[in-house]
Amino acid sequence: MKIYFSWTILGCLFIFIGIDIWKNNGGKLHYSYVSSGGGVILIIFGIFMVYHSRAKKKQFPGKYYKCLNCGNIHPSNEISELKCPECKGEIENLKGFFRRNPDKR
Ligand SMILES: [Zn+2]
Repeated sequence: MKIYFSWTILGCLFIFIGIDIWKNNGGKLHYSYVSSGGGVILIIFGIFMVYHSRAKKKQFPGKYYKCLNCGNIHPSNEISELKCPECKGEIENLKGFFRRNPDKR
C-alpha cells in the first residue's frame, strides 16, 4: 500500500509544479527552463500518476479483509484476488463488515 501512497504524493507534486509553471507561462525546474507546454505535460503526467494509484486502490479499498469461510483476517497486500489466500473462500472488506453482517459479530 505504501507504494500507491507515494505515487499519489508524487502525482500531486507534479500537478502542483506543472500548474505553477503553466500559470507563470514557463519557469525553472532544476535550473533548466521549462515552457508552459512543459508545465501542461507535467500536469497530465501527474494526473496519470494519481489516477493510476487510485485505480489500484479501487480494487482493494480496505486495509484488511475478512474471510467469510474460515473467518481469518488478511491485510490487502496479502491478497491478489477477492479470495481467501488460505481456503479460497469469499472475502469481504473488514471496514463496515460487522455493520453489514451483524450476526457474525
Ligand atoms: Zn479463509
